[in-house]
Parts: sequence; C-alpha cells; structure tokens
Amino acid sequence: MNREKESIRSLEPYVTNPTICSVKLDANEGDKDLYRDLLKKLGESDITLNYYPDDSYSELKKEINNYVGYEPKNITVGNGSSELLDLCVKTFVDKDETILSLDPTFSMYSIYAQVFSAKYIGAKAEEDFKVNVDSIIKDIKENNPKLIILCNPNNPTGSVLTKEEVRKIIKSTDALIALDEAYMEFGDESLIDEVMDYDNLLIVKTVSKAFSLAGIRMGYIVANEDIITSIEKVRAPYNLNSLSTYIATEALRQKERMFHYVKNIKEEREKIYKALVNLGVKAYKSSANFVFFKSDIDNLQKKLVDKDVLIRKFSGKLDGYYRVSVGTKEQNEKFLEAFKEVM
Ligand code: PMP
Repeated sequence: MNREKESIRSLEPYVTNPTICSVKLDANEGDKDLYRDLLKKLGESDITLNYYPDDSYSELKKEINNYVGYEPKNITVGNGSSELLDLCVKTFVDKDETILSLDPTFSMYSIYAQVFSAKYIGAKAEEDFKVNVDSIIKDIKENNPKLIILCNPNNPTGSVLTKEEVRKIIKSTDALIALDEAYMEFGDESLIDEVMDYDNLLIVKTVSKAFSLAGIRMGYIVANEDIITSIEKVRAPYNLNSLSTYIATEALRQKERMFHYVKNIKEEREKIYKALVNLGVKAYKSSANFVFFKSDIDNLQKKLVDKDVLIRKFSGKLDGYYRVSVGTKEQNEKFLEAFKEVM
C-alpha cells in the first residue's frame, strides 16, 4: 500500500554517490585538514551535551556578524543551507504557488518545491549555459512566482551573474528572491553588502564549501528583520546541534584560514580549466570550487573510478556533462593524469 502523499509519488530522490575513491572530487567538498584541529579543541572544551543548545545561537551569530557585518536579528542559522532552502519554501510558498529558478541549477530546489506541492519553473539558460537576465525577467513577469531561487555562482555550471544582473532581477519583481551564495567565496559578485537595500532579498550561505565544513551541516540566512521573523516562526527549535555550533563558531573566528584556502582553490581551478581546454575538452569558466565540462568519452566516470578518482556525472538533459571539484594540488594532478590516461 502506497501511503505517500500525492505530491511526492512521482518524486525522484536526490541520489548521493556511495562510491569510495581516494581522490574524491564529486561533491564540491573542501580540504579535510582546514579546520580538523577544531575537533581536538571541541574535545577539550567545556561544551555541555545534556542541555539543548542556546536557541538564539548568540555566539555563532556574533561570529557571523564579524564575517558578514549583520546583527543577530538579521540572521537565521540552520542544519546546512539545505535546511534553510527547505525552510524558505515552507515559510513563503503555498500549494500551487510558483517557484522560479534557473535551468540547469542545483536540483534540490525542485525537490523542495514538489514536496510542498508548489509549481516549479526552471528558466532555461542559453547556449553554453549562459544565463540571460532579460529572459529571466520575462519568465518572472509571465509566471508571477512567489519565490525566486537564484544560485550564484550556479551549480553545476559554475557561471556567475554579475551584481548588476542580480540587482536588475531583484528590482524587476516584488517576489521574494532567495539568493543562494553557497559558492560565492570563490567568486566576486556577492550582494551580501546590499542585502538590506531590498525588502525582497534574502541570502543563503553555508560553511560547507569555502570553510570546508560540509560534515558539520551549518548554513545561515541573512535578510531584513521581517523576512527573518517569518522564517523563525517555522524553524524548529534547536535545529542546529551544539557540536556543529561550536565548530562553526570557532572556524568563523579563524576565517583567515578560509581566505587563504580560497585563494589557493581559485588558482588550482584555473589550472584545471586550462588543462582541460588544452586537451580539447569543452570546459566552462567557473566562479565556484568546481569545473563543469563536456566529454564524449564513454563511461568516463566509471573509467576514472577504476583509477581511484571520483567526479560527478550528470544525466538526462545533461547527459555527457561532468563536474570535477577543485581539490588539493595533488588531487587535481591525479585527476588530470587519470583523465589523460582514459582519453
Ligand atoms: N546550495 C547549493 C548551490 C549547493 O550546491 C549545495 C550543496 N551541494 C547546497 C546549497 C547545500 O549545501 P549545505 O546543505 O551543505 O549547506
């Protein structure tokens, strides 16, 4: 007997890849050692496990304030930015209302939409995955979305909209814009400094990428007080656990490490991009910590797995496209070496 609610019966789950390779470049994760020492610090701390966490997350929000420059009343924290994107849909979108995003983009957005019986529209990118702002604005006018989710830089293509382009979209509509800047530390077009200039803008951030802390599941939203107050009504109490809160707070206190790491990843990203282009591969310029490319090699992913290298493969409309995360110099060299061998 199928007890599932109607809206999720046709839902395809988000599939994560369980394959284990020593060079793991499939999920845009960071450096395993960047903040690893905080585990030891956590063990030596006087953190309590019997009590629920401080539900105002005041210490953490103080450090987020030091990083992005906004007060606790303008911040909500969550169990990864995944939970926060889900919360945005829960808070702002009713059944049969429309969510508009890009196509292609991060596939979880459409899953959240479907779970809450919302309509989902992906504004089609042009040739070579270029996002045309005027055509998005036209799609917005035609479809009257309740929520617009913009992934910038975009996953999986790595393309970035300029600040001016994002401003133009925000100003074109009264709909709420959730700007997912998960990868923006690796790009230069953040609107974080302007988030309070618009009453219809919220920015979603995470420590999973630039801070290399995907394992602790911590994300946050920055927005005006009205938007935060609405989200806080829906957020479950104690949604972020004490251990993650501790590690995230400490990592933010030591953000110079992250800045140094990001600089290195940007250099490595250009090396991978150039190496692929020099091999005749159609690769895309990226503003994130990964490079998207097209390859006609049969079973490329499997052939690389046989060489102990894991990258992300896409299917459906993106059949033949791949995404390799930028890792350490050694990992990237191993990827390129393995790639040359399978060519
Ligand atoms: N947004 C984008 C664009 C992503 O690529 C991801 C993870 N792949 C997320 C949000 C979710 O990240 P997390 O839940 O780890 O913060």
